[in-house]
Amino acid sequence: MSLFPDELPALDCHAHIAPDVTDHQIGALKGAVVFAMTRTPAETTHALRRQDTTLVWGSGAHPAVPAALKAFQPRQFATTLKQTCLIGEVGLDRRGSLQAQRAVLTQILDAARDEPVILSLHSSGRTGPLLDLLTSRPHPGIILHWFLGSAAERKQAVSLGAYFSVNAAIPDDTLSALPLHRLLPETDFPASRRATGATRPGVVDPLEQRLAQLHDTTPQLIRRRFWQNLRELTTRTQVLDRLPEPIADWALEA
Ligand SMILES: [Zn+2]
Repeated sequence: MSLFPDELPALDCHAHIAPDVTDHQIGALKGAVVFAMTRTPAETTHALRRQDTTLVWGSGAHPAVPAALKAFQPRQFATTLKQTCLIGEVGLDRRGSLQAQRAVLTQILDAARDEPVILSLHSSGRTGPLLDLLTSRPHPGIILHWFLGSAAERKQAVSLGAYFSVNAAIPDDTLSALPLHRLLPETDFPASRRATGATRPGVVDPLEQRLAQLHDTTPQLIRRRFWQNLRELTTRTQVLDRLPEPIADWALEA
């Protein structure tokens, strides 16, 4: 039970949840709002049949999953953007062909152009090529997920207008080098389980506590900042009205 009427739920802007998750399992997330990524077009099709009030399902083609790249079809992908305001997980990854990954991501960015969507982008081991692509195809809804680029690349990403979804496995010096008004929380559950200790999607308290220390504030104010950041990002991309109503309301109240 909430102690304060204005208490905001935990926000997790990048996690993986099976599309056949049950109501009981969603209940175990304790009210957390989760942006749930998909890895393949088939998983996307399954996920987008759902109607959940605390989950936002992504349309994804994970760069480290060769079958996902192979199954990607631009026309089918464009259709999914009528059903969801979230693209993810997509991006570039050190494993596999850069050329193949870049071809798919280019088509994704072209489909996203001028659409009311936000994108959760993976860049592990290929931060430079990813930023090059985003420079030639900018989008106002970019969220760089678990971004570990160099200081110069961070600066480039900030100047492109990108947001950063960060988790408890990111070192302090990286966390404090990112502007607070561009941060969103994530767990990347279950990929990050070992590194962050998260036991389920939505466990962002340890991250909020660390950021509170780094910025000399309280975890409650960090959570509010996250929701305010989500409001700013979803307002400028015209995504706010496409979110499930309770999520839009929390963003507006934050
Ligand atoms: Zn992920």
